[in-house]
Amino acid sequence: MRVRGKGIGLLSGGLDSILAVKVLQEQPLELMGITFFTPFFGPEPGLKAGRLAGIPTRAVDIGAVFLDMLKNPAHGYGRHMNPCIDCHGLMLREAAKIMDAEGADFLFTGEVVGQRPMSQRRAAMKTVERISGLSGRIVRPLSAKLLEPTAVEREGIVDREKLLDLHGRGRKRQMELAAHYGIRDIPQPGGGCMLTKEGFARKLKELLAVLPEADPDDVEWLKWGRHFLLGGSCLLVVGRSKAENERLSAMARLSDVVLRVPSHPGPTGIVFGGSKNRSQIYRAAMIVTAYSDVALGERVAVHWAHSGAQGWVTVRNVGKDPWRTRLL
Ligand code: SF4
Repeated sequence: MRVRGKGIGLLSGGLDSILAVKVLQEQPLELMGITFFTPFFGPEPGLKAGRLAGIPTRAVDIGAVFLDMLKNPAHGYGRHMNPCIDCHGLMLREAAKIMDAEGADFLFTGEVVGQRPMSQRRAAMKTVERISGLSGRIVRPLSAKLLEPTAVEREGIVDREKLLDLHGRGRKRQMELAAHYGIRDIPQPGGGCMLTKEGFARKLKELLAVLPEADPDDVEWLKWGRHFLLGGSCLLVVGRSKAENERLSAMARLSDVVLRVPSHPGPTGIVFGGSKNRSQIYRAAMIVTAYSDVALGERVAVHWAHSGAQGWVTVRNVGKDPWRTRLL
């Protein structure tokens, strides 16, 4: 049968995005998937969904532009630091660029009307369409019959009659559809976005308060170790295990200061953020020492390396207590 058009799916990785593909595969359409990744969520679930649905799928890095949006989302945050409406709008705008480059006719998502509290309310869907400049070009195959016909449905590229009318939070019909399409490996819902996690969101807020120009690499530090405010726009991350110490060392950039206490077992510390001064490095060396095996009250030489230079700073171990107020 002649292919009527081409659609690009935004694959989140959930069952619904797989089902959206399956529903559209009932029609003579060429389909491909894209899945976005940022420091806050990875591409693996979406890539897996594409494999399970049987369509070619591309992972696209939107970390930098996402972080810019996250600093001041026009539609605010959800429960923690999740700017869901702006996130969807941004993803659709980025997807629209790919749609144009690929010469595709429409985008599609696995959204279901009324399923999620914030991003999938009918009004929110419209807002997302408006801010992404894609009104009428986003097909939601699972709920299409409850929504106004899109341009591609009106043009006959997508047959509206073959689309569904799923609504609400219940999962019964999705499970029936999964059985119908022979999907046995059912992805577990959600939980993949770090912006919805309270502890991470709190640290991120602090980071952006002291370092508004933070880039995706700065955000990466928040995923490992303990974090301390050093004053100004400087922060310290201290490894909690051998694996974390190795990870932190591997992640260090030339602009970061790497601290170690070579004479004793202990953590690696990385000072990152804005310009670093002597007193911040001294403070960081004391914290790294406090978390090492150096005896309380003992003096020790802490090694630092920064921008190709290196040296030593001698500090006394005053213990962890003085630094608790600086913990993020
Ligand atoms: S939970 Fe995270 S990834 Fe999902 S829409 Fe919200 S901000 Fe975007």
